[in-house]
Amino acid sequence: MAKRIVATLLLLMLVFTTVATAFAKTAVSGTRYVTASNGKPVNVRKGPGKSYALAALGRINVGEQVSLKYKDKDKNGAIWYMISYKGKTGWMMGSFLSTKKPSTGGQTQPTVPAKDQCGFGGCTAKATRTYGKWEMTNKRMADGSLKPVEIRNIHVTCEKGHVFGYSEERNP
Ligand SMILES: [Zn+2]
Repeated sequence: MAKRIVATLLLLMLVFTTVATAFAKTAVSGTRYVTASNGKPVNVRKGPGKSYALAALGRINVGEQVSLKYKDKDKNGAIWYMISYKGKTGWMMGSFLSTKKPSTGGQTQPTVPAKDQCGFGGCTAKATRTYGKWEMTNKRMADGSLKPVEIRNIHVTCEKGHVFGYSEERNP
């Protein structure tokens, strides 16, 4: 029974791959940076259009670099690219891809990749995260007021030698 399921899955993947390349119009190459004026991660979809579901990649953080594979247009004439990122592919709207590395506007937005990955400058090596305790602290807001928040420090040690830390914040 398990074998049957695996075979079916493989067949489905083959069908999906065939469909995915069937509607790709033009093969393209090069790299682009993910950019968004609101600084939020950008959706990656299963096809060239907003009507397609999110691809396995989900969303990619602003500032990450992706490789271009194919170019196509959606029904409104907007350009979409099939991109490759960390070995996976999906479609992203062309307006979210730039040849220039976007500025993060001084905001600290640490890349927090999958649990066991480094993420430093796009590094995908295996990494260990050590989580500090959540601690209450008062954060100075833009208007000068103090707001109680919980903060914890996270220490990352990567197999390639990257050692860095970042902190997470949550409201009480
Ligand atoms: Zn690393």
